[in-house]
Formats: sequence, structure tokens, C-alpha cells
Amino acid sequence: MKHIVVLGAGYAGLRTVIRLQKLLHGQAHITLINQNPYHYQTTALHEVAAGNIPPEKICFDIADLVDPAKTTFIVDRVSSFSPQTRLVHLIDHDDLHYDYCIVALGFVSETFGIEGAEENSLPMTNVRQAMQINEHIENQMAAYQPNHDANHLRIIICGAGFTGIELAGELADARPRYAKIAGVEPGQIEIEMIDASKRLLPMFNDALANYGIRLLHQLNIRITQHARINKIQPDLVDYRLDGEDSTTPLHQSQAGTIIWTTGVSGSSLVGQAGLQQRRGRVMVSPHLTAPNDDQLYLIGDVAAVMPPNGKRPYPTTAQIALSMANYVAEDLAARLNNRERPDAYSYHSQGTVASIGNTRALGMASGHSYMGYPASVLKKMIMNKSLLELGGAKQVIHKGRFDLYH
Ligand code: NAD
Repeated sequence: MKHIVVLGAGYAGLRTVIRLQKLLHGQAHITLINQNPYHYQTTALHEVAAGNIPPEKICFDIADLVDPAKTTFIVDRVSSFSPQTRLVHLIDHDDLHYDYCIVALGFVSETFGIEGAEENSLPMTNVRQAMQINEHIENQMAAYQPNHDANHLRIIICGAGFTGIELAGELADARPRYAKIAGVEPGQIEIEMIDASKRLLPMFNDALANYGIRLLHQLNIRITQHARINKIQPDLVDYRLDGEDSTTPLHQSQAGTIIWTTGVSGSSLVGQAGLQQRRGRVMVSPHLTAPNDDQLYLIGDVAAVMPPNGKRPYPTTAQIALSMANYVAEDLAARLNNRERPDAYSYHSQGTVASIGNTRALGMASGHSYMGYPASVLKKMIMNKSLLELGGAKQVIHKGRFDLYH
């Protein structure tokens, strides 16, 4: 019997296992490895970081979804994998030999080597880090009471990409709660985003992007744009504006909470395995395998797929991770059943929606633009659909987003 090893139980890895369990009937055994016994919805980390929803709301047990007759689930960290020997090395378990390996190890925060970023700012790439951000903010608010240092009330988000903007919206929603802890008015909680890009929300047309920026201004979120961060010190962000050179003194913004959302990279294990990659992403074959190794699939945040006639790979999202997983399960099932493999992978985005707090969002779906409350409902429906694909109806009932109040 063939052995399929799946590394990671995020959107891509977990969906692959769920599909393979349906498609395979004794042709192969699956081993799923994940460092936590639970799966978490990465698309809702910003809500946990702001303290607007509890972590339990975005997590569910992986074991509930595993059919022990078809899949062995191991809770452990992958320390490395070798395409040459077809071995996966784990921290606390014996090595595993595979016939097919599906690398779905997800993403890590990218600091671009900026001095002090790792030591002096808070990343938000997993549920533990999101909880740490919430705890840090609450501690800062509490610390305001004895000394009235306004620094405790300031929050800086480094990077105003999709993640930074969604987080800013959630923090704005949370202002009344923070203010209560600090004993101040909500308006005294300052939120600032610092970003290097020329245009915010680049994935949207001008009308939608301008709507999003207006919303952020209305929520009293300060946006410092054209500003390249080059150092983080304790409670201090140093940056330079476009056009300024190294002789200009650095600008500085001060805050008791500094959150790092300047971008992500695929897992570093991909580069360590000797695969040709850029920021942890491998340009995969039309069947989502490594360029010279048809036994090794790479999906989700560790894979790069070029759109037809495109110049840059599709952005990494939960939606594309789930779509890649569905494809890989079909492809593998065809191979194991000696059937013709499906045509090359192609991706059809169902749309992109960015939330700005719980009841506001903006997005594009099926060629239509959505703004405000209707867009926020659309966003929750998209999240419920992902949840259904992973956790089934049970998880949708328990963890679905039906808080559609206005
Ligand atoms: P990103 O790369 O989209 O944005 C990072 C931002 O940080 C950019 O605006 C960039 O200009 C800025 N930046 C980088 N270095 C900087 C520096 N030194 N100084 C100042 N600014 C700097 O990263 P992200 O927001 O973490 O998103 C990661 C991926 O996840 C993207 O592909 C995104 O599309 C996806 N995502 C999707 C959704 C969704 O679909 N709802 C939500 C969140 C993230």
C-alpha cells in the first residue's frame, strides 16, 4: 500500500486529507502531521488579536475530522524533509518514509531583516501570537492607569497590507473596551499604520480602495504612507519617507504596542530541503508538484502559481489553498487508481473581500463591487464556506459567523 504524508493541517493540508479520505478506498494510507492538535482559521486571527472574539471561536480539533482507518494523525513538528531520500524528520517521532508527500506548511512572518523587528514588535501569524497581541494591548491599557503615560494608549501597525488594514478595523471596533480598561475616552486610543507602498489596497480598483481609505480615516486611524520602516526599537518605529536619503534624520513614532504585518513568507523548511524558492514559495509544476519531483506536492502558502499572462503569482489566500488541496486530492486519486490525471491546475477566484471591523468591508466578487455592511455579510459567508469545506456542518453550526447584526 502506498504511503501519503501530509505536512501541515492548515487550510491546504487539512482539506487535502478530508478529500483523500473520500476518494481513496485502500489504495494508500495517509499520515497527517501538525504541530498542534487543532486547526485555526488564519483569516480571523486579527479578530482574536483585537480581543473581539475568543480563540476557541476560530479553532477546532483535527482528530474529529480524521478517519483512523485511513489516516494516522501525528501531533509533532516537522524538523526537515528530504526529496532525495523521501524521508520526513520529526522532532519527537521516528522518521517517516513517503511515496507521495504534500507540503502544506503555511507561512511565517517576514521581517526582511529589519533591525529590531523580531525583538521589539509582535507578529500575528498564528493563534498563540494573536492571543499574545490581545494580552499585550490589555496590559498596556491597564498600565496607563497609574502613570497616565499616553504611550500606553498608542498602537502602531507596521505595514498596511491586507492583514494590517483588517487588523486596524478590528482594533477600532475594540476601542471602547480598551478605553474602559485604561479609564479614558475611546477617542484617546490612538491607532496608526505605517506603510511604504504608493497605493494602499492594490488588489482593488480606485473606487473601492478609496472607499476603504475613507473608512479608515472615518474610524480615526492614522495612515502614515510612503514611509519605509528601517528599525524598530522598544516602543519606537523609525522610518524614512519617500525621497529622503540617509542624510535625513529618521522619523520616529512611539507606541506601547507595535504589531508587525509587513508581509509573509512560506515555511523556511522548503528552502532547507534544497528546493528552488523565493521567500519560501516554490514555482510549482502544472500538477502542483516540485519542478523535478512528481512525488512531492507543494500547496498553499509554500506554492507559487502564475496566472495566465500574469507577471506575479496569485496572492496567497485561504481560498487558493483550498482550491489547490481539492486539485491535489483529485490528481493523487487518479494516479493511485491508474486513471488519467486531471488537466493542469487552474484557479478561478470567487472574489476578494477585506473587512474593516465587524460590520464594514469592501470587496469584489463575480465582477461586482461590494461596500459597507453588505460586503461584511459576504465576508462572513465566505468564511462559513471555508469552514464547511474543512470542518463540515458541525463546525459551521458551532463556529460559523452568523453575527450579521448591523
Ligand atoms: P502584504 O504583502 O499584502 O502587505 C504588506 C504591506 O507592508 C505592504 O503594503 C508593504 O508596502 C508594507 N511594507 C513592507 N515592508 C515595509 C517596510 N519596511 N516599511 C513599511 N511598510 C512595509 O502582506 P499581508 O498583509 O501580511 O498579506 C499576506 C498575504 O495574505 C497577501 O497575499 C494577502 O493578499 C493575503 N491576505 C488575504 C486576506 C483576505 O483575502 N481577506 C487577508 C489578509 C491577508
